[in-house]
Amino acid sequence: MEEFPFDISPMYEGERVRKGEYYVELAGPKSIGFELVRACSPDEVEDGKFTLIGPDLADMEEEGRYPFAMIYKIAGEQVEEDLEAIVERRNHDFQNYFHGYMHLNQRYDIWIRIHKDMVKNGLKSLEQIARATMMLFKSELPFIEKIEAIYITDENTVKEELEKAMEIYRKRDERTRNLHDEDVDTFYGCLLCQSFAPTNVCVITPDRVSLCGAINWFDGRAAAKVDPEGPNFPIPKGECIDPVGGEYTGVNEVAAELSGGEYTRIKLHSFFEYPHTSCGCFEVVGFYMPEVDGIGWVDRNFSGIAPNGLPFSTMAGQTGGGKQVVGFLGIGVNYFRSPKFIQADGGWNRVVWMNRTLKDRVYDDIPEDIRDKIATEDEAPDLESLRKFLIEKGHPGVERWEKEEEEEKEVREEKPQPTQPTQPLPTLSTVSLPTIPQASQLPVFQDPGKIKITFKNATIRIGKVVIEREEEKSG
Ligand code: SF4
Repeated sequence: MEEFPFDISPMYEGERVRKGEYYVELAGPKSIGFELVRACSPDEVEDGKFTLIGPDLADMEEEGRYPFAMIYKIAGEQVEEDLEAIVERRNHDFQNYFHGYMHLNQRYDIWIRIHKDMVKNGLKSLEQIARATMMLFKSELPFIEKIEAIYITDENTVKEELEKAMEIYRKRDERTRNLHDEDVDTFYGCLLCQSFAPTNVCVITPDRVSLCGAINWFDGRAAAKVDPEGPNFPIPKGECIDPVGGEYTGVNEVAAELSGGEYTRIKLHSFFEYPHTSCGCFEVVGFYMPEVDGIGWVDRNFSGIAPNGLPFSTMAGQTGGGKQVVGFLGIGVNYFRSPKFIQADGGWNRVVWMNRTLKDRVYDDIPEDIRDKIATEDEAPDLESLRKFLIEKGHPGVERWEKEEEEEKEVREEKPQPTQPTQPLPTLSTVSLPTIPQASQLPVFQDPGKIKITFKNATIRIGKVVIEREEEKSG
């Protein structure tokens, strides 16, 4: 085995390299980059060859930031185009085995940091990183018989190649367009993120791309076939319990097994009820805003604050870890293109806000009648402006508010009216219950001196209930 000036072990997965600790930062949110795997014929690949276009580590400024692309050409008897995405996803996995090296995200979102200690310990060139990665690819995925790496740090070349890569990603995503959950008997699971999100249950179906956006149903199928001992495995669908929510007995069984009994039900196309777990790799996070009874979506490139007052990073922290979090949901961008997109909760009609770049990216896939009724940070940076925007544009959610308010009014009228003057009651806009769905149906206030709050469709967790007999007071 080749010698490298850094340790290689799965125990380094999840290691973070912070600001001030890195020698260089490559790609990431403040630069550009991508990773790509191409399946080639054997004569197109020179096994073990490494090419670098642009400056190497020794030519980079300490604590500098540079564009970065990693392209791998692979060949082998079993290597086919369907395997590209799955091999590409393992780049994240394998590179995180390097002590002092941080690789985050996938595709066009990659973000790499190389710790100063790696350089101190003898790392001189990106070639050493490429060689260690190629070694892992070949030892862990034996169907790869030949592999060649091309790394690019020259900004213009990264830009040019990124455009070509985007077209390849788009074509991959297109493949599942005409295939739906009901057309297949088997879904696929992925275990990769369980290393940092142990209860994560990642289910990939024709209508639901993986959370990281890198693996679609075809990719899962190809990986499970060629590497049956690997992280991707078939999930027999079983019986469909809820066709709208997307609940299947086979998925529930796998959920119970993989989450160690933590989650026994998953509805693939539901935001509120038994939602899919969220690992941390998701491209986009959805968040419920009770004040407008609608859902907003923000992608990881958005550095601003969403109307609920939170940035992506805070919401991602709240959502990730392999949990089923009612009120937040991590998804892959391509799920927006699914005809079953959160269909249990009204689909696009429940969407009220998206960050501008995300909305532009999926604009053509948003149904025409709702497109212009979804706000971005330009029109609605906060809840008040969002509420105004939705009313002005006649968003379908507004009708729902009116109906609910009407129902609440009827309930109030049926109850005895207060005889004493009361304090002004909080209005919807002052009630903030971020994780409770249907909160726009709140609150229902009644008798003076007493307050009754009705929660509809809410999940309430109680750690402990103590029931005590009330002792009669003796005179
Ligand atoms: S998000 Fe899902 S499909 Fe993607 S790497 Fe993680 S477990 Fe695998």
